[in-house]
Parts: sequence; structure tokens; C-alpha cells
Amino acid sequence: MTVHKFIRKLLRLKDLSVTGFEFRFRDKELRLWVKPHKNGCLCPECRRRGRIIRTMEYRVWQDIPICGWSIVFHYCPKEILCRRHGRVQELIPWAEAYARVTYRFEYGMLLYCQLMPQKAAAKILHVPPSTLSDQLHRTIGRLRDGHRIRDLKTMGIDEISYCKGRKYATVVYDLDRSCVVWVGRGKGRETIDQFFNEVLSGYQKNKIQWACCDMSQTYIGAIEEHCPKATLVLDRFHIVKALNDAVDEVRKEQWREASDHERKTLKGLRWLLFKHSAHRSKKDSRILNALRKGNHRIHRAWVLKDEFEHFWEYGAPWAAERFVKHWSTAALKSRLEPIRTFVKILRKHLHRILPFIEKTITNAKAEGLNRIIRLVKNRASGFRSLPAFIDMIFLSVGDLNLPAQIPAKFRMV
Ligand SMILES: [Zn+2]
Repeated sequence: MTVHKFIRKLLRLKDLSVTGFEFRFRDKELRLWVKPHKNGCLCPECRRRGRIIRTMEYRVWQDIPICGWSIVFHYCPKEILCRRHGRVQELIPWAEAYARVTYRFEYGMLLYCQLMPQKAAAKILHVPPSTLSDQLHRTIGRLRDGHRIRDLKTMGIDEISYCKGRKYATVVYDLDRSCVVWVGRGKGRETIDQFFNEVLSGYQKNKIQWACCDMSQTYIGAIEEHCPKATLVLDRFHIVKALNDAVDEVRKEQWREASDHERKTLKGLRWLLFKHSAHRSKKDSRILNALRKGNHRIHRAWVLKDEFEHFWEYGAPWAAERFVKHWSTAALKSRLEPIRTFVKILRKHLHRILPFIEKTITNAKAEGLNRIIRLVKNRASGFRSLPAFIDMIFLSVGDLNLPAQIPAKFRMV
């Protein structure tokens, strides 16, 4: 076995021959002179052999590092004349036409970036973090280019913050498949209109059967306009949150009016009031029950909040509707202003909440995805630019499995 063949076997290089090598000890770099194996001079479009016109400039490709050595390929691609496609650059079997890294490097990069912060991935791959970020953007852009949303039946819309909570992006989910299908800049009507007008066709919009969003008029209006056939379901998570906020408002009111002595009993209540009854300990219940004598108004608000939990357990819409009727009468009698405001919202949106009973869809899956997105965001200690953030969203929870888009024989690290 010749040394060149040995190197090729050892590094498991596919579709290429090694014609020379050089170790650069100072840069910890192994330079390999390579050429396409057997079938050189192929047209990238039709894979037919063409006549060589000229040898192009020297190019280098970075491969994944091995045992601390950075591996760099050197080759002068040929310009060939294809009978059908004219003058073209020959097919480079180990990399995408104009990429500066090999397929194998791209695969490693996608895999590592899914698992760890980009800084760590950059260290493993022997590149500066900024280069990695650029490279990642280019690769993901190319792999997602031409990708279409397919079979969207249950969609969820939500907003997500980036840049330390100063800026917002709108995220569209496919709730059947639990993945992100689209991300757009901003959280206004323009953004969501852009999704419906530019990304979805009329046929696709008609195919959407269920849509889930929060109570903002922006999203409700957009969905009702663009997807007339979809049943709109308001997200359970956001409704529960609105009620919790109302209860908290009552607590704050009482806190402001309380004397120093009374404040002692109200301390530490905030999170206790939010807790779902199923997650409460005996001690928690004791503290809350003691409120009946301690602070009647907070107690009343808490009891109402607790009772409302039953709403989500109903099996029939008519029964749920009857429950809401009774509950809101009781809530209005409570004379707690924040709760009364909540009742008004509830009554206004009731026809959009009841479908939940029929089909238990919520953005719960979306919330799960959001959690992953937040994790990605924290791992990178916040994203300044939206494109970099979108890259990571698509890489971790996108509708296209990105590492699987690299040709199978190069999927090794
Ligand atoms: Zn051709």
C-alpha cells in the first residue's frame, strides 16, 4: 500500500485520490493535495464527462480536524465544456460547488452546533467562532433553499424575544409535527401577513384546519382573514396566564394598602397563588386556606382561579359553556376589578376558547419548542442578530432535519 493510499484509507476520504501531503508543524496542519477519484471532469448538472478548457485557480477546503491536526485539501478545479451546459466548473465530489469546507466539515458543524454552544463547536473544528457562524449561516441557507412547507394542518403562532428582550420575532409552528416552520422579524400584523402572503399558497391556506394563538388582536385578525376555514383556538397557556395576572393584580392592590404588620402574612404569596392545585403541597394549601381570615379579597381571587381549573377538564362544549356561565356570574359578584376585567375578556373570546374542549390543541407543544429556543438563546448568551438566531432555531427545532441533508457517505465526524 502506498503512503497516499494509506492516508486516504486512514482518513476515510471518499471519491478522491491523494496526490501529495505536507505536515505544517507550526500551524498543526496537514495539507493534502487531492483530485477527484477516477471520474474527473464531470459536469455538475448532468454528470457527463466534458473537455477540459483550462485549469482554474488554486482552492482550499477545510476538512474536519483529526487528532489535533487541521486537515486542508488543495486542488485546482478544471473548467470544462459540457455539450449541454457549456462552460462549467467540474463537479467537486467532496464539497458543494463554491463552498470553502467539505461536506464532512458541514455535517460535523451542524451536529456540534445542535449539541453545544457555537464557541465550543468552533474550538473542536479549529476555526474562529465568527468564521463558524458565517459558515453555518451559508450552509443552512443553502440546505433550506427551495424547501417548502408541507401539509400544514394545525398551526400555532407566537412571539419570541431576542437581543435582551428588546426585539421580537414571530414564530410559526406546525403543532402536529412539533416543529418550527417559519420565523419572521417583528411581531406586528406586517410580519404575519408576510408569512401568509409570501410563504403559503392559497391552497395551503385553505388546508389549515386549526390555528392556535394568544389573545392579541393582531394574530386573531390575521388568521381570520387569511384562513377562513380554520377553527381558531386561543391558547390555554395564555388564558391561564391572564387569569394568574388578574389574581396577582389583586394581591398587589392588597399589598399596597396593607400595614407593615399585615404585609408579613402576605409575603411569599406570589408563586403560591400561581401554583396549579395538582402541584400544591399540604403546607401550601394550609397557607392559602389561612388567607380566608387573613385577607379575604386575595382568598376570594385565589378560590376563583382554582375553580376555573375545572374548565379544561370538560368533555363536552355545552357543559363547559354552562360552567363558564356560572363561574363568571360568581366572579363578577366578587367585586374584584382585575377579575372582572378577565371575565370580560373571557366572554368576548368564549367562542374561540370552547373549541379547545373538542380538540385539545394548545400551544403546549409550542411552549415546549419555545423552551428549547430559550435554551439555545441562553446557551449563546443572547443573540444580537436575527439571522444567527433563526439559524439556530431551524437547526434545533426546524421542520427540516439539516444534518440529514448532507450526502450519506459524508455523514461522519
Ligand atoms: Zn452538463
